[in-house]
Amino acid sequence: MSTEPWANGWWAEARAIPSPNFGPRPEGIALDLVVLHSISLPPGEYGGDGIERLFTNTLDWDAHPYYDQIRGTEVSAHFVIRRDGECLQFVSVHDRAWHAGRSSWQGRDNCNDYSIGIELEGLEDTPFDPPQYATLARLLQALGATWPIRGIVGHEHVAPGRKRDPGRAFDWAGLGATLQRCWPRATPTASPLPELPAAPGAQA
Ligand SMILES: [Zn+2]
Repeated sequence: MSTEPWANGWWAEARAIPSPNFGPRPEGIALDLVVLHSISLPPGEYGGDGIERLFTNTLDWDAHPYYDQIRGTEVSAHFVIRRDGECLQFVSVHDRAWHAGRSSWQGRDNCNDYSIGIELEGLEDTPFDPPQYATLARLLQALGATWPIRGIVGHEHVAPGRKRDPGRAFDWAGLGATLQRCWPRATPTASPLPELPAAPGAQA
């Protein structure tokens, strides 16, 4: 592992697959939110290249009947964590990825402006695998040491009624306990909306 975890917003532990689906963040904005998602393409099928094809605009829309529902969509997330814990990065954290859509957190709209999006390969309401939580904890630790993260929420929490991911099977209590160990100033919580103070050394 590199001693320099980030270069230009790219995590040394992640495999970089640059996506064209991003834009600039608003000038001077603090990155204080992480939005967790789940995705699998086709839904419920793991291990294929559908997600990276979607995020790089190279998905064959005719390859599966489900793809008709998302035909032409241009989306991305900063990170994808596969079932085996492998982390892929598609957009630099410094840039604005297109993952949350119409969304709001603590009265602030457009979560994409100030959040970091992490997709877990999976299906809403279906348990995620232990290697995914292990990678997620390392990634959140690295993010929290670099950016002033205050909240870790699900897509379902910033777009209620419109989105349901990562869903009921996501282990928020376990994540809270892990963060307490690896991120000493994190507030212990079993709530689906952990409120975290800025990590030591965090900068805007
Ligand atoms: Zn989502």
